[in-house]
Amino acid sequence: MSQRTCLPLHKRTWAPMHGHRRLVVTRRRTTVIAPALKGVLCDLDGVIYASGSSTVIPGATETLQYLREHQIPWCFVTNTCTKNREGLAARLRDMGIACTAEDIVSPAKLAADWLRSHNAGPTALFVAPELYTEFEGVPLLPPTAEAGADAVVIGDMGLDWNYSQLNRAFRLVMEGELRLEAAHTSMPQPHCESSSGNGKPNHPAQQAQAPEAAPHHQAEEDGARSGAGGRAPGPLTLISLGKGRYYKDSDGYSIDVGPFTSAIEFATDTKAVVLGKPDPLIFCLAARSLGLEPEEVVMIGDDVRGDVGGAQAAGLRGVLVRTGKFRQHDLSVGITPDAVLPSVADFPAWWEAQQQLQHKQVEVEVQEQLQQEQELQQVVQQQEQLQQEQVQQQQVEASLGRSKPARLAVVGA
Ligand SMILES: [Mg+2]
Repeated sequence: MSQRTCLPLHKRTWAPMHGHRRLVVTRRRTTVIAPALKGVLCDLDGVIYASGSSTVIPGATETLQYLREHQIPWCFVTNTCTKNREGLAARLRDMGIACTAEDIVSPAKLAADWLRSHNAGPTALFVAPELYTEFEGVPLLPPTAEAGADAVVIGDMGLDWNYSQLNRAFRLVMEGELRLEAAHTSMPQPHCESSSGNGKPNHPAQQAQAPEAAPHHQAEEDGARSGAGGRAPGPLTLISLGKGRYYKDSDGYSIDVGPFTSAIEFATDTKAVVLGKPDPLIFCLAARSLGLEPEEVVMIGDDVRGDVGGAQAAGLRGVLVRTGKFRQHDLSVGITPDAVLPSVADFPAWWEAQQQLQHKQVEVEVQEQLQQEQELQQVVQQQEQLQQEQVQQQQVEASLGRSKPARLAVVGA
């Protein structure tokens, strides 16, 4: 969480002085100020509403209203994959929280945008039925096929998971790995470096689209898919919609998508592309969707690993709330939140304190810079005065030196 970096108290520089160099020691400001916070990402389950229910956490509505009134850029970032974004927004509206699908960044949306932008071939979805609408335009593999997938997407299927489903996912990835070995190529990887012309894209889709795949990869893919018979062997991309370990449901804790993805990774010796918390990519994309750099954004969540640790790994700050799945044990897992708040209701006060702290730090920095300049000016003036005194002294001594032999001559005579 260290946002301020300590530097040595003094700095030493060489200043030119009458053809010579003088060592000047000045006091250095002791901190580097963290970028000002300008935007907010917020988890849903366990932060805005109670886990597995439709009960709004007290103060959540007011906090969202505070963000709107103060025109603070914000959006929800959720791994929830049992509903599409339209469904999530409708659920929030039913709770009395104004929300549209565009206010939500979800792994399914990022994955679908990425697959569409890469003209992915047959894709196997292991997701909740409602999530299929997010993948409109993505060609889907027949539901019983066990070979021929270009992409395998693993999400939260809840009670629909069984051995047959998991084994089918395994067989698809295994067959794809064999194709990968035969093609001697590698799968493209999404990342978070692209930006629009003004450097501030408007939506994660813009980030997930263009240049992440190396050109030769894309060329290989395009060539493979346009070959004889409509499609030739190519690389397979295993995509995990988040990689949470567990979540808190209305009837207790439940296994999240992470253990299912890990099972396939372990069995096939592959690594999934994780589009979702705790992978840093989704935080980076969400921050850029607000037109901000990750360092300018804070994430609010109830999951110390998925929300706080992931956000901090992406360069954001992370605030942990003691609601939802929070446990006291979370404070001893090696992740240090930038703040631990009783609930999201306390966020506006924390935000304002951060803004005031930032303002004071900037004021102190300006004052220290002015003081440093004054100190340097005083040192230069003192040295110039000393130099003048030395010159005058030398002139006096030279004058005495010229007159001394004459006086001696008089004395000697
Ligand atoms: Mg949560």
